[in-house]
Amino acid sequence: MIDAFLKVARCWDLFLHQFRQISLLLIFVLLFSVAGSSFPRVGQADTLTAPQELKSYPQIVWNYLKVLCDFGPRYPGSPGYENTIKLIQETGLKFANEVKTQPFYSAQLSDENDRKFLNIILKFNGLEEGPPLLIGAHYDTRPFADEETNPDLKKQPILGANDGGSGTALLLGLAQWLSVHPPTQPVHLVFFDGEDYGAKGSGQILLGSIHMASLIHGSVEEEKPRGVLILDMLGDKDLEIFQENFSQRSAPDMTKELFAIAQRNNFVQFKDKSKYTIYDDHYPFAKIGVPSAVLIDMDYPHWHKLTDTLDKCSIESLSAVFSVVTQWLETQ
Ligand SMILES: [Zn+2]
Repeated sequence: MIDAFLKVARCWDLFLHQFRQISLLLIFVLLFSVAGSSFPRVGQADTLTAPQELKSYPQIVWNYLKVLCDFGPRYPGSPGYENTIKLIQETGLKFANEVKTQPFYSAQLSDENDRKFLNIILKFNGLEEGPPLLIGAHYDTRPFADEETNPDLKKQPILGANDGGSGTALLLGLAQWLSVHPPTQPVHLVFFDGEDYGAKGSGQILLGSIHMASLIHGSVEEEKPRGVLILDMLGDKDLEIFQENFSQRSAPDMTKELFAIAQRNNFVQFKDKSKYTIYDDHYPFAKIGVPSAVLIDMDYPHWHKLTDTLDKCSIESLSAVFSVVTQWLETQ
C-alpha cells in the first residue's frame, strides 16, 4: 500500500514537474511573441501601414534618443561617438538600400590636428530615378560646455540630448519609415560629423556639411541634390520652431510647405514667422545654390550646457516634427 502510494505520489510529482515545465515554456513563448511584435521590422509593411503606425513611430524615435543618451557624450573620438557610428551603420544596413561612409580630414583644421571625421549616408532608392533629396542632422555632440559660466564646467563635454541627439534620433526613425514608404525620388539621410567641433569664433564648425557641399560643388549637375533639409535641436519640451532666414531665401517653397503642413495639423510648435539667421548644416549647401532649409529651435536655455539632457526633451515635440517631415516627404 505504501509502495503503491509512493508510486502514485512519484507519478503526481512527475506530472507536476512536467506541467510546470510546459507552463514555463508556454509563458516564455507568449512573452517572446508579444515582445517581438512590438518591434516593426522590414518586410512587415502590412502591419506598419495600419492606423496605429503613426503612434508607434514617435516611440521608435524616442527609443533611439534614449539609446544615444545612454552612450554618453558623443564628441569625435569619444566611446559614445564610436557607438553612435555603429548604431547608424547597423540601422542603415537594416533599412536602407545602401550605406555609404564619407571619411575626411577637415580643411578648416590645422595640419597638426589630423583628426579624421566621418559623414554617413543612408541611401533610399526612389520609385523613379532622379536627383536625391538630402535630409541631414549632425550626430556629433559639443566636446565642451562653453555656455556654462563656471570655468570647470566649461571644459566638460555635453550630453547633447537635444543638440546632436534629437536630429540623429529623428533620422534613424526616418530610416525605418522610409523602408516601408519608398519615396518617389531618392532620399539620402545624411549624418554629419563635426558640426559642433570647434571653439566659438574658431571657424571649426559645420565640418561635415562643408566637406560634403565642396564635393557636390565639384560634381556634375545630375549628381547635385534637388534640396537639403536639416533637422537640429528639435526635442525641446517647449518646442518653438520659427522660419529661419537663410532657409526662407534658399528654399522658400520647402519652408512654406513644411509650415503649411504643420498648420493644417494644428502643430502649435511651428510658428509661421521668421526669427533667426542661423549658420547650421544647411548653410554650406545654400551657398552653392542647392535649395536648403533647417528646422531648428534656438530658444533652448540648455544650449551648449551640461544640462542638455533627456529630461529636457519630449516625445510630443519629436512626434510633431516627425509627422510634418513624413507628410512632406509623401508629397515629394
Ligand atoms: Zn550645438
